[in-house]
Amino acid sequence: MMLQKDPAALRGEKLYEGKAKALFSTPDPSIMLMEFKDDATAFDGKKKGTIVEKGYFNAHISAILNRYLEQNGIHTHFLGQLSDRYHLVRHMDMFGLEVVVRNIAAGSLARRLGMDEGTLLEKPVLEHFLKADELGDPWINAYHVDAMGLCTPDQLAIMESLALKINRLLTDHLETIGLTLVDYKLEFGVDPDGNVRLGDEITPDTCRFWDSTSGDKLDKDRFRQDMGGVEDAYAEVLRRLTTGQS
Ligand code: UDP
Repeated sequence: MMLQKDPAALRGEKLYEGKAKALFSTPDPSIMLMEFKDDATAFDGKKKGTIVEKGYFNAHISAILNRYLEQNGIHTHFLGQLSDRYHLVRHMDMFGLEVVVRNIAAGSLARRLGMDEGTLLEKPVLEHFLKADELGDPWINAYHVDAMGLCTPDQLAIMESLALKINRLLTDHLETIGLTLVDYKLEFGVDPDGNVRLGDEITPDTCRFWDSTSGDKLDKDRFRQDMGGVEDAYAEVLRRLTTGQS
């Protein structure tokens, strides 16, 4: 059983509230509280809804995966899980950039390049998107990143190398529990010492997970496409990660 601590004892000012998470200050300026919410959006916020207990599932799933990455030498923002819906995370300056990693064609890549969903990509593909809701998070390349000063070329190179390392670690680990990691979104930032770290979340909101045997979707596509069984899918991902069984 996880030790439950009352977030209210530490929770200060709300620093940010997004679609699925909120960030709060704590008495220690180097540490923030990250709350995982049940709200869900898709198609740039045009579809809104609630996934019952999503905050619970995602907080646990992201904690397990961040812990796994830390144990394998990846620096993340994750410091610990405080309670069912709250993480303690490092204060970081985020780059305002989304790094999408793809192993199998799906979603916007399948549409853009006219590929059938499910086509295996011979090598992982990295893509960058500008975090800008009002513009629908446009696809950008390394030249845009540099010209817009989102980060330095060195920081971009570190992010890309971390993304590929994270991809190997997650792909192998998830395959052992019967989950195929199709694609996902990562966000990075710098800590006060200038180190590039992984931030944000790793959950069925931000990853496409397919059952390795049946191909069933176990992620937010069930919400996006009104497939039903959304909560069961999130619960199933958590069950597999917790038990280590497919
Ligand atoms: N993704 C995300 N947040 C975004 C956009 C994408 O977490 O704002 C994730 C999405 O869940 C998927 C991957 O990034 O696992 C690739 O998404 P894609 O570009 O295919 O976008 P989609 O067409 O699915 O919105």
